[in-house]
This record gives sequence, structure tokens and C-alpha cells, in this order.
Amino acid sequence: MTDRAPECSKCSRTMEPGFVLEQTHGGLAQSSWVDGVPERSVWTRLKLTGHQRVVVTTFRCPPCRGVESYAPLA
Ligand SMILES: [Zn+2]
Repeated sequence: MTDRAPECSKCSRTMEPGFVLEQTHGGLAQSSWVDGVPERSVWTRLKLTGHQRVVVTTFRCPPCRGVESYAPLA
């Protein structure tokens, strides 16, 4: 993915950047993509050690209201 906003795959209009909001006990956060399958953890509910974690950017198309998410590597 480039630094430019992608075009909508349905109507080819330029999409606007945003993110999916997660509300946790620790506050508000941006969604992340994690590689592999979910592993249970007693302390955190999900084990993330050894997994790659990338913040997800979600784009919205104003005309058709569709959304597409991307997780570019840092
Ligand atoms: Zn669209």
C-alpha cells in the first residue's frame, strides 16, 4: 500500500482514512492485526508473545459507505 488513500474497489472514488475504535478496560485503542491463530492467556486473555502486531488503518468511501482495512508493515 502507498501513502496515498486507496480508491474504493466498488466505485473507484478516493477513500478517507480512519480507524476502528476498540474500547477496553484500559481505555480506547486502535485495532491491530496479529499474525497466526489466537492463543489463550490466563493474564491477558490472548497471548501476543512471538506474534507480529500491526496497527490497522481503515478507509471509508463517502459515496457508497464501504470500508476497507489495511495493515502496512512498519
Ligand atoms: Zn465506494
